[in-house]
Amino acid sequence: MNKNPFPELNAFIEVYNQALQKAQSKAIFVRGIEIQEAQVEELKQLIEEIKLQKAIAVEEKDEKKANLILCFELCATAVKNELYFVMSLKRDEPDFAWQALIDAQYQISLAIRNHPFDGRYLQGYAHRLHLYENIIFPKMYFASRGCVVSSSECSVCRGDMEDCEHIKGYAYMGEICYEIINEIKSIDEISLVENPADKSCRMLSFTEDGKSIDIFTHREIVKKADG
Ligand SMILES: [Zn+2]
Repeated sequence: MNKNPFPELNAFIEVYNQALQKAQSKAIFVRGIEIQEAQVEELKQLIEEIKLQKAIAVEEKDEKKANLILCFELCATAVKNELYFVMSLKRDEPDFAWQALIDAQYQISLAIRNHPFDGRYLQGYAHRLHLYENIIFPKMYFASRGCVVSSSECSVCRGDMEDCEHIKGYAYMGEICYEIINEIKSIDEISLVENPADKSCRMLSFTEDGKSIDIFTHREIVKKADG
């Protein structure tokens, strides 16, 4: 570890590093699923401890420290999602696996972008998550949705997102800024794209011989009868 600008966090960072290293060693596909389930519970506890540390930094109004601890929180959450991803694959639940993987990718990209010192050491991990996507899942199309938002507010200051100084996807005092959409005026266009902003908006099925086929499993999707 490099020199830490917050020596008061030394003991906490040591616990965090050890816990995350252990968690990553369990996020490998061939580990036993019950061991991975137990690891998820340990990570949930770790994330609670991280949030407590973050709350202290926020109280001290130390934004750099709060954002550093936010990056720890994002990384621990990403590893938790990586475990969910692997476990869902073993359970033959590719839809859940997909969502967990893209959540992990998003959290790591936020951690890299918002790291107050140098988040580049996380790029290897980000690469690993992208390799998973390419190897495990088929090439697919996503829906890009263009809509007109008539009312939205900033999650940081609760002001109008158009007027305030905060930027979506950036950290302020240990929290990522996001847009809270209150009202959608109209949906303009839905187009199919290969590289979408939101990978959870994906095509779910295709039609073959009059049957609806799941894009992941190639199983026929049988619609439940109404009533
Ligand atoms: Zn704002």
